[in-house]
Amino acid sequence: MQKLAELYRGKAKTVYSTKNSNLLVLEFRNDTSAMDGQRIKQFTHKGIINNKFSYFIMKKLEIEKIPTQIEKLLSDNEVLVKKLDMISVECVIRNRAAGSLVKRLGLKEGLEIKPALFDLFLKNDAMHDPMINESYCIAFGWASKKHIENMQKLSYQVNNILSRLFDNAGFILIDFKLEFGLFKGNIVLGDEFSLDNCRLWDKNNLTKMDKDRFRQNLGNIIESYKEVARRIGVKLD
Ligand code: ADP
Ligand code: UDP
Repeated sequence: MQKLAELYRGKAKTVYSTKNSNLLVLEFRNDTSAMDGQRIKQFTHKGIINNKFSYFIMKKLEIEKIPTQIEKLLSDNEVLVKKLDMISVECVIRNRAAGSLVKRLGLKEGLEIKPALFDLFLKNDAMHDPMINESYCIAFGWASKKHIENMQKLSYQVNNILSRLFDNAGFILIDFKLEFGLFKGNIVLGDEFSLDNCRLWDKNNLTKMDKDRFRQNLGNIIESYKEVARRIGVKLD
């Protein structure tokens, strides 16, 4: 499927239309951003790794009956997806304390959280993605009660599936962010699942394997992403 017009250039991906009005091409670039896009750096191979990683994860989720955007892997850094009417709310699941939760509540990083938390953030870089809740979504029309309940249920299902998958490869899934959209009225998982939108620690030594290596200047980001891909069975070449 050929790319037609560039519709949107985000912080990490570029979105293209295709001749089928129900389908889009997502092109994964090498850009990595932090601080709502204020800090950006390119890493060779990152686009390829994230595209193949995200495709691998979404196919695993589909086997477990999670509806996803995936149509076809088109190339190393491009995937054909269903064109979703995106819900501008980020769904975050947290199995252990990290990142903004640690800052907000002063918890110890790595503290186990049971049952896992479900947080909502408004997708708005200019406002620094503020934390919101269900009643904000309903009051301001960002998402209906039914859609939030559905996104929450799917997010917890994804957590069960992926916590197990990563645990089997020797990792702890700390937290992650999902974005959903509507396709023909149904909630479908969109965007990506990669090491840019989750936190993943090595079970043995608690080494950070995810984008925190960039956020916290820990180095070896690509080596780390490749190591995770290798251990869960993503074929990179
Ligand atoms: P950002 O917009 O946060 O900078 P990206 O660089 O990842 O993020 O850009 C990808 C954009 O495409 C995001 O705004 C995302 O919401 C949107 N998107 C992802 N998947 C789909 C899809 N299947 N259909 C329509 N839009 C999508
Ligand atoms: N996350 C994301 N995009 C965002 C904000 C967060 O993918 O715009 C992911 C992040 O990688 C982590 C989870 O969501 O896996 C929880 O992030 P948190 O709220 O702790 O915010 P952060 O510390 O990333 O600012």
